[in-house]
This record gives sequence, C-alpha cells and structure tokens, in this order.
Amino acid sequence: MKVIIATKNEGKVREFKQLLAPFGYEPVSLTEAGVQAEMIEDGETFEENAHIKAKEVYRLAGLPVIADDSGLEVEFLGGAPGIYSARYAGENATDEQRNQKLLEEMQGVDMPLRKARFVCAIYFILDDKREYCVTGTLDGFIGYEPVGNGGFGYDPIFMIDEDTSLAQIDSREKNKISHRAQAMKKLAEELQK
Ligand code: IMP
Repeated sequence: MKVIIATKNEGKVREFKQLLAPFGYEPVSLTEAGVQAEMIEDGETFEENAHIKAKEVYRLAGLPVIADDSGLEVEFLGGAPGIYSARYAGENATDEQRNQKLLEEMQGVDMPLRKARFVCAIYFILDDKREYCVTGTLDGFIGYEPVGNGGFGYDPIFMIDEDTSLAQIDSREKNKISHRAQAMKKLAEELQK
C-alpha cells in the first residue's frame, strides 16, 4: 500500500522509507505522488502542525500520509524557538544566522541553564478511522560556539555531551539517537500493535 511522506526534504523521505519497509508500505514523496500542497503551519504545537500537514495531503490525495514537524526547545528561553525554529532569524535566514542569533540570546548563560532538546512529532493518517501521533525527543544543551560540519540546522550548537556536538557525529549515529529516530521507533511500535 502506498503511503505519502508529506515533506520536501529528501533526507526525511529516505528515513521514512527505511522505517516503513518492514510494514509492507510503499512510501512515496509528495513529488512522486504528484501532490502539490500549500500548507499553512499555524498550529501551536509540533503535533498540531504535523496534523495540519497530514490532513491537507490526505484530503488532496486520499492515500495514507505521514507528516512530521520538528524543532529545538531551549529551557532558558522558555521553550523558544520551538515551533518557530525554521523562522527563528527571519524567513530567509541561513542556518548560520539562526545559530548566531541563538548564541547571542544565550550569552552569559551558564552551562546548567543551557539545557535544550530537539522534538519531532509524527502524524500518520492511515484511513478515515486510523490516525497515529507520536513524539520523540533528544536531550542536550546549547554550546558556546558552533562545532562540527555534519548534520544540518542547529546541530553545530547542540551538544550531546560536554565535548560533542550533533554536527560532529556520523549521520548513521545521529539517525540512531535523534528525535526523529525516537518518534519513528514509537510509530513502529504503534503499527505493530
Ligand atoms: P522542519 O521540521 O523541517 O520544519 O524543521 C524545523 C526546524 O528545526 C529547521 O529549521 C531545522 O533547522 C530544525 N531542526 C529540525 N530537526 C533538526 C535536526 O535534527 N538538527 C538540527 N536542526 C533541526
């Protein structure tokens, strides 16, 4: 059975294809499904935004859909940038500019207060009666400067231990521990039930 992965991010499509392979689904991207969806992510939580995306694609395609929404929550900033992670430094800003803005906000803040976590919500609509929502997280803290060239987004300033940022580890390692991987694991558990 086909399932549409509601994202334009090819990396995410690959990850979902791996996850869904054992369940006999045939994951297809939005492009492969020929779906052109303009989605306004105006929810107040990651879960709501994932639901908005999944619902819209399901409405248009009438096929099972998986959508996700993710971002970074910093404790000292009351959970910001949160659902606004992608737009934190303005609509057209780069990853570097977002990281720089966050480091500026955290200037003078001591390590115990630099706790942060990545969050990923996945919403899966199988049919009119079966919908699943799962959330995964990865705990860490905000470093003092960007380190490492791997990953993307906030990875260079997200420390998983005192010496290591998420941008310094191999992508396979990241895919084992990441918020997305945790959410996918939960989805797999739900599907096995
Ligand atoms: P989206 O879920 O693709 O909309 O991502 C939202 C924002 O969160 C983007 O700006 C990403 O930079 C950030 N983000 C989500 N997941 C990660 C990650 O694994 N590493 C670094 N940044 C991430």
